[in-house]
Amino acid sequence: MKKAVIIGGGLGGIAVALRLQCAGWQTTVFEAGPTFGGKMNRWQKDGFTFDTGPSLITMPWVFRETFAAAGARLEDHLEMKPLAPIAEYRFHDGTRFEYTSSLPDWLATMERVAPGDQDGFYRFLELGAKLFAISKATFFDRSPYEAPGPGEWRAMKNMPLRLAWGNYQKTIEKLFKSPHLRQLYGRYPTYVGSSPWLSPATLAVIPYIEFAFGGYAVTGGLYRIVEELLGLARQRGVELAANARVVRIEKSGGVARGVELASGEKVAADVVIMNGDYGATAGLLGVATGGVKATGKSAMQGRSMSGFVQLYGLRKPLTGIHRHTVCFSEDYKKEFSQIFNERRFPDDPTVYVNAPDPFDTLFIMANTPATEEVWDEARIAEARARVFRRLRLAGFPEFEADIAVSDFWTPTRLSERYLMPGGAIYGVDSHGWKNAFLRPPNVNPAVRGLYHVGGSTHPGGGTPTVLMSAAITARLIGQRFA
Ligand SMILES: Cc1cc2nc3c(=O)[nH]c(=O)nc-3n(C[C@H](O)[C@H](O)[C@H](O)COP(=O)(O)OP(=O)(O)OC[C@H]3O[C@@H](n4cnc5c(N)ncnc54)[C@H](O)[C@@H]3O)c2cc1C
Repeated sequence: MKKAVIIGGGLGGIAVALRLQCAGWQTTVFEAGPTFGGKMNRWQKDGFTFDTGPSLITMPWVFRETFAAAGARLEDHLEMKPLAPIAEYRFHDGTRFEYTSSLPDWLATMERVAPGDQDGFYRFLELGAKLFAISKATFFDRSPYEAPGPGEWRAMKNMPLRLAWGNYQKTIEKLFKSPHLRQLYGRYPTYVGSSPWLSPATLAVIPYIEFAFGGYAVTGGLYRIVEELLGLARQRGVELAANARVVRIEKSGGVARGVELASGEKVAADVVIMNGDYGATAGLLGVATGGVKATGKSAMQGRSMSGFVQLYGLRKPLTGIHRHTVCFSEDYKKEFSQIFNERRFPDDPTVYVNAPDPFDTLFIMANTPATEEVWDEARIAEARARVFRRLRLAGFPEFEADIAVSDFWTPTRLSERYLMPGGAIYGVDSHGWKNAFLRPPNVNPAVRGLYHVGGSTHPGGGTPTVLMSAAITARLIGQRFA
């Protein structure tokens, strides 16, 4: 049996291990942290249970395919529930509406809040549909570093050139007159940790996917996905080691030979797969340059956003709220300028609240730059005050007096827990065509036998794309060792 060692037990690491194990490999996953799942994590205290990372998933068929690759049916393990509505949006001027993936309902809402923008919405959908068709035939299934097949050339011929190669925000402004729809659709590049003002219009595929195929929750929380995949992995024979940090990738003659753990133990392997942040690979290879620089302010340029997450368990459930609420800042452009140009937590952050039924646990998130500066108590208190100010302005119900348990995740904590430089949730940002579509490769270009999987690599961050990454990496390894 060929042996594969996976550095990191995030969603991508578990999925690639499961796929390879089912294809006849012996796989071992080494996870630095105490639990598996990486950023798809869970926190439990005093009877409250929280997902600390993802709260909404799209493209459910990708999850189904992952289970199918292990000879299982997702439906036998998990209940995925379409969200209707997907979210309630609250704007600075007091406007509020539900965003839904039902076309008749959304047309009716647009008639009320953005009359005259329906044609723009149809064009936006058309652009997204073309981008989706192309992505499906190319980006989602294959690495851009592979030679294109005939299907890919055919798909590229249909590229909607004019709109797709432009700037994301400019395209939004061309298609929508309503300031509310501009802000709403401007939010989607943040799904990959990026700014609408700096991203290419090709990211219009993200709102298309959510609208066309829906957003989903999982009964019992998204961490159930990790639990079920781990259960399958164990059953199929994947070896899973937690509290096992890899400190070095062993290589000789330009070929990866295995890994060394913090304990000093050395483990030989035919292939090594890095599920940790791509930018941390150079350090494991003992290479001084390349990847993300270890120190200095400029080191964080080009990194995707991090997050400031507050988790609250409440003594009594809130009423009159939706499962997902987005409270927009007054000046969205200024917010992104403060994040990406001034590289600081915005004065007036857009705040996202996830409150699974029965609305007694709150996951509250605001975007913030990836940073190596430590988020100390004072910084947390200041950011928290700005988030609460925005919630109050948006008319979100008061709950501070009812907080029973709380926990905070900052860029510092994210960086330390998941070993990702600056706490950048999605690796490099998606600014400019190259960053968005030529993500770091799944096959390491310098070291034979070293592969990459996960959100910091191709095809990018977000749970379904991470699972696609696992499928691509497992296929490339299978081809290399066929
Ligand atoms: C707050 C937050 C909200 C999010 N919201 C959403 C959402 O709503 N929808 C969505 O789809 N996605 C969302 N995401 C993104 C999603 O969680 C990630 O894209 C995905 O989980 C990343 O999986 P991964 O396999 O790439 O890596 P990770 O989850 O980063 O896992 C990598 C693992 O590797 C381990 N590791 C690293 N280096 C080493 C080493 N040297 N030795 C051993 N182990 C190592 C780390 O400890 C980590 O556990 C969110 C993320 C966060 C943090």
